Amino acid sequence: MGTTVIQSLRGPGSSATAGVIVDKIGSLEEKSLSWRQAGSDIYRINANAGSSVRTGADTAEWVRQCLKISAAGAGAFDITVGSLSAFWDIGGENPRVPAKEKIAELLKTIDRNTVKTNGDTVKIAAGQRLDMGAVGKGIACDEARKILEKSRVKTGTVSVGGSVLVYGYKKGCKVGIRDPKGTANDYMGILNLGSCCVSTSGNYEKTFTFKGKTYHHILDPKTGYPADSGLTSVTVVCDSGLASDALSTACFVLGYENSLPLLEQYSAGAVFIGRDGTVKVTADLEDRFSLNDSAGYVLEPRV
Ligand code: ADP
Ligand code: MG
Repeated sequence: MGTTVIQSLRGPGSSATAGVIVDKIGSLEEKSLSWRQAGSDIYRINANAGSSVRTGADTAEWVRQCLKISAAGAGAFDITVGSLSAFWDIGGENPRVPAKEKIAELLKTIDRNTVKTNGDTVKIAAGQRLDMGAVGKGIACDEARKILEKSRVKTGTVSVGGSVLVYGYKKGCKVGIRDPKGTANDYMGILNLGSCCVSTSGNYEKTFTFKGKTYHHILDPKTGYPADSGLTSVTVVCDSGLASDALSTACFVLGYENSLPLLEQYSAGAVFIGRDGTVKVTADLEDRFSLNDSAGYVLEPRV
């Protein structure tokens, strides 16, 4: 997934369990989710667009869950962005700005309604491509939790890029939210959490600059261009890793106001950081969030 896995586990068998989790995340990418990896489920679905493809049972179920979140969020998060995201290739080897006509052509391939699943088969329309990049790390957190539940590990955190699993805590696990202006170790605030999944989507993660303009990797499926909703990052907290990851991407596209009904539907909380340095926190996280006063952000009171 082009990222580092950092685990902190406490309890008997922690080291061995950490190894099992790393192996699982590797095979998840290789066998199921990566569109770049020849032979993975998503690779085969894309290579056989127009025909039904038998996948591992989990992959078809993840696709179904993604389609539901996509529908709930009016398509702001949509795994059928694959043809568009592959053309932009932001974070890849050959990033480029598509011509306007190309954007119009690629936008026609984005349609969650043409993805059909039946049991463990998935079929997409010709010309379409799936991209699970916005949910892979969250799914990895869900898989890590399943392994931990079968182990003797008592508490821990598993961090997969921008998604973190908090396991076995009733409360009191501190998770920092990265300062979008700073380096990977700078935080703008801290969430004090019990067991849950936390995912952040930000416009600083993967970028490229062309003719003086910087483009980031979260695309608005309505415009075909990087999302521009006034935010610089969104952090979502909920029970499921897949949902927290999908929702952080959806909320980034939707912006603060439009995200609130979607978050409510998934019993999720969020911290929104605006490009103007203002921070908004949903009601359920208010008591759990503390701002790092030296980072220069302004916490807006809720109205
Ligand atoms: P990260 O990959 O940095 O964790 P996200 O979880 O927000 O960030 O996912 C962004 C990735 O998801 C992009 O690199 C791209 O592969 C894909 N993507 C971009 N825009 C969308 C979108 N609107 N819906 C679904 N997937 C998207
Ligand atoms: Mg995401």
